[in-house]
Amino acid sequence: MTGTKLSAIRADITTLAVDAIVNAANSSLLGGGGVDSAIHRAAGPELLHECRLLGGCKTGDAKLTNGYRLPARFIIHTVGPVWRGGGYGEADLLPSCYRRCLEVALSNGLRTVAFPAISTGIYGFPKQPAASIAVASVRAVCRQSDGLETVVFCCFSNDDLLLYNAAINEGDTAISESV
Ligand code: ADP
Repeated sequence: MTGTKLSAIRADITTLAVDAIVNAANSSLLGGGGVDSAIHRAAGPELLHECRLLGGCKTGDAKLTNGYRLPARFIIHTVGPVWRGGGYGEADLLPSCYRRCLEVALSNGLRTVAFPAISTGIYGFPKQPAASIAVASVRAVCRQSDGLETVVFCCFSNDDLLLYNAAINEGDTAISESV
C-alpha cells in the first residue's frame, strides 16, 4: 500500500484547486447536464474548443484537457456507464472510469485528483454501490503506484458524503458484495 491520501468532502468540484478534476461527461465530450455543464460553465468556452478536437470518448475511458479558467490545472473527462439494471457491464465499466482517470493522471505527472460521483446523477447508477466501487477502484490503483498524493471524492450532497466516508472507512472489500 502506498501513501496516497483518500478523502471525501462536500463541495462544488469546480472550486477545487487540485492538479486535475474529473468530469463525468458523455461520449461526445461536447457538454451535457449536471457536473459536466457546471465544469464547462466555470472553465469557459476554450474548453469546448479543445473537447471538439478529441473525437469523443468511449464509456469507461478518459481523456485530458486543460482546466482553463478553473482553479484546477487540468480536467480528466471520463464517460460513466448508464445504469440499465446492472446486467450490461455497468459494474465493470464504472471501475474502468476510475482506473483510466488515474492512469491519465499518473502518465501526466498529476498528483492531486478530485472525482465527482461518476454515473450517479443523470446516468442513474445506484449511489451506495457506486461509492464502494469508486473507493475500491482508486485503492486498487494506489496499491500499484506511488505517484498519487491525494485523491478527493467530491460529494455534492450530504448523503453522498456519508456514503463515501463509510466506504473509505470500510476498506475495499465491499465491491463484490454490493453490486
Ligand atoms: P452522470 O451523467 O455521470 O450521472 P451527473 O453530472 O448527472 O453525471 O452526476 C454525477 C454526480 O455529480 C452526481 O452525484 C451529482 O450530484 C454530482 N454533481 C453535480 N454537479 C456537481 C458539482 N458542481 N460538483 C460536484 N458534483 C456535482
